[in-house]
Amino acid sequence: MADNMNWQQRLSPGVNAIAPSGIRKFFDIAAQMDDVISLGVGEPDFVTPWSIRESCVYGLEQGYTSYTANRGMPELRQEIVNLFKRRYNVDYEANTDVLVTVGVSEALDIAMRAVLAPGDEVLIPEPCYVSYQACTILAGGVPVAVPAKIENEFRITPEELEEHVTDKTKVLLIGYPNNPTGAIMTRKDLEAVADFAEKHDLIVISDEIYGDLTYGGEEHVCFSSLPRMKDRTILLNGFSKAYAMTGWRIGYALGNPTVIAAMTKIHQYTMLCAPITAQVAAVEALRHGEKYMKKMVAEYDRRRRLIYDGLTKMGLECFEPKGAFYIFPSIKSTGYTSDEFAEKLLTTEHVALVPGSAFGACGEGHVRCSYATAIDKISEALSRIENFLKNHRK
Ligand code: PLP
Repeated sequence: MADNMNWQQRLSPGVNAIAPSGIRKFFDIAAQMDDVISLGVGEPDFVTPWSIRESCVYGLEQGYTSYTANRGMPELRQEIVNLFKRRYNVDYEANTDVLVTVGVSEALDIAMRAVLAPGDEVLIPEPCYVSYQACTILAGGVPVAVPAKIENEFRITPEELEEHVTDKTKVLLIGYPNNPTGAIMTRKDLEAVADFAEKHDLIVISDEIYGDLTYGGEEHVCFSSLPRMKDRTILLNGFSKAYAMTGWRIGYALGNPTVIAAMTKIHQYTMLCAPITAQVAAVEALRHGEKYMKKMVAEYDRRRRLIYDGLTKMGLECFEPKGAFYIFPSIKSTGYTSDEFAEKLLTTEHVALVPGSAFGACGEGHVRCSYATAIDKISEALSRIENFLKNHRK
């Protein structure tokens, strides 16, 4: 189609600066093929537990179809506050410290827009979730990658952060349990990061969307529960992963009343409120959903052990994931780039996964496999990958 307007040049510098997500490209190829096993999507294969869905149906019957308060329904904010008290012993105020958002995605976007001035730098440990750089750039900030090492189980250290901090650094954005590596940070690791944040007076945005998904007895440590960190931290969480509620689009931010009010100001002009149907369901998830969530986590753990054993036996160097539902094996031994590996595996064996380069330059040499997939599909994918490795080495 003719582009008489020359749209490309009229787009905002931010949108021209971000690349399309490296994840989507492979789904588009996979969508045109039969018999594909996808280890690509970071999405639970479970449907939302019935009692949560039912609460939404009941809410609709009762006529819950309107806008809610911008900050979210009071009963949902109260349940969120109760959860943080119960689980992490952190005190938040439902009226001032909570904003219910359209997923963690919106919370991340408006957190960045609320705090960044043009040119402010954001430290982002990599490999990381694909939206972190994009949200930073769209808010006028500058993402600064801090590579994490497989030798250190992809945990970040203050020494590594120190190498990248400048007088323009304003925010440290962390996401543990981590997408795409499955890494977690121990209390000791996080305490060291907290000292670093305090030393440089940084805002910490902590994306804890996988906080409920840890395995092998590992504890998730909520960043704002660390001494002196509550006021410094914008804590993001949501329902997509733990409660299999990706399509409902519901999450939240917790933090100091001033920053939550600033985020609410953006949210009230752009979203007004999160969908009421999802808010009603989220109340039910927090009141009665934990038992279902725990069952799903136990099943992810079974899959995690299967995929870790399978990939390791094939000779792929793997860090044993401790959280989320991803594994991030090294494919360096094959001689392929992560892009080549993902494309050849997809076209020859019909297994979709995501090249590690999609999660930052230091993800190169790895691929991300999601084990939010039924166990028989994981088994079949493993035998296809094994077959691929026998026939494809550079
Ligand atoms: N944060 C991380 C680390 C994620 O992996 C994802 C989704 O994959 C999101 C945020 C987005 O979550 P939501 O569905 O709540 O917008």
